[in-house]
Amino acid sequence: MTLAPHGAPRLRTRRGRLLVLAGIVGILALAGSVLDLVHPAYVLVLVVAALATALLLGNEPAAPAEIIPAAAPVPPRARVETAVGALVAALPEPALLLTPEGDILVANARVALSVGPARVGDPLSYLVRVPEVLEAVRSSANDGIPRRVEFGERIPLDRWLEAHIVPLRLLETAGGEARGPDTVLLTFRDLTQQRRVEQMRADFVANASHELRTPLASLSGFIETLMGPARNDAAARERFLGIMGAQARRMSRLIDDLLSLSRIELNAHVRPDTQVELGMIVSHVCETLSPLARERGVEINVTRPDGPVPVLGDRDELIRLFENLVENALKYGAPGKRVEVTIALDDAVSGDALVAVRDFGPGISPEHLPRLTERFYRVDVVASRDQGGTGLGLAIVKHIVARHRGKLTVESQPGQGATFTARLETLDKSEKNKPL
Ligand code: ADP
Repeated sequence: MTLAPHGAPRLRTRRGRLLVLAGIVGILALAGSVLDLVHPAYVLVLVVAALATALLLGNEPAAPAEIIPAAAPVPPRARVETAVGALVAALPEPALLLTPEGDILVANARVALSVGPARVGDPLSYLVRVPEVLEAVRSSANDGIPRRVEFGERIPLDRWLEAHIVPLRLLETAGGEARGPDTVLLTFRDLTQQRRVEQMRADFVANASHELRTPLASLSGFIETLMGPARNDAAARERFLGIMGAQARRMSRLIDDLLSLSRIELNAHVRPDTQVELGMIVSHVCETLSPLARERGVEINVTRPDGPVPVLGDRDELIRLFENLVENALKYGAPGKRVEVTIALDDAVSGDALVAVRDFGPGISPEHLPRLTERFYRVDVVASRDQGGTGLGLAIVKHIVARHRGKLTVESQPGQGATFTARLETLDKSEKNKPL
């Protein structure tokens, strides 16, 4: 917006005026004396009287300054248009100003970035090909009512947008009588991220409910059977109670995993700051899982550097991380009979610590690898359930690694086992990277 330039204001005060008057009186008196019309003594008295009046009266507070504009005011229409153009440019979202007929008057830079190239003077339909939006602009220009339209696009990307249409009356008519809108403001908001989060939340609730409902239905069924037909069947009762116990344990594992996940997510932005030693944590996990390894006939070999491997971490979360990886290797890689857990220092390259859990089981097909850390994603649902899996283990692993600012990689070939590697910053590296 450009404002009309004004010159420096000229002040007119009483003192100024009286001094000028005194000067004039002095000159007239002097002229009269030169022409011998007035005696020089009178001249002196007159000039002194005029000067004294000017100084005495002029000492009174000056009248308020009068500002005289130097240039003519800018016409209101041009000023409004400049101001509105600047406002549209400053909006954080893609915004267009349109005529009531739907032609583009102004488009801010964000329009080109997320809607397309907009040319002033073109009809909106050259830029936006969504009939609902064009219709809403037409209607709002006619009836003066703001509208909101949500629409989806598949090309070039799958995304959701929201258009806000606000009819405006920017200029008054000469008589000030009410008339319809003279412009329409059209802004866009990208809803894609919000929609994705909503979808993920809905999927998560649906999956969690389904996972809980299955064992619950089984429990209810057995309770009914035990209260009815199997009431006096001791053998059936024994068998059913065993199954019911397993289902109850499955439900409790699922609830534990759900709670862990939400706790880790809640703290995702807070990096753990306690010093812990990776070698001890990994050895502790392998010891805890040795009964399961024995049960599955699998041998666990741990390789670690001679010295300690200190990292900044949350001990309980790191235990959970390696428990999930080693347990999966024991469950799904059991046919390989061997699991190797290796702690290595990558100091030459990055200063990171690497913990790799490798099994020699059936491995995982490449198409599954990118989805393994999604909640409830399983390669084989029945196999996972048979092993007591919840489908949340690797999602928990991913979140723990992320909270520790680390990285998780999976390498696998069908028939050749799988290797899950967690890369974590060592304490040395964390200290070096610490902001001063
Ligand atoms: P679950 O509770 O089912 O074990 P996870 O999130 O831990 O859930 O693992 C997701 C899926 O990844 C598993 O159901 C399994 O299909 C696959 N998976 C995980 N680890 C391995 C492994 N070491 N070998 C083969 N498949 C694995």
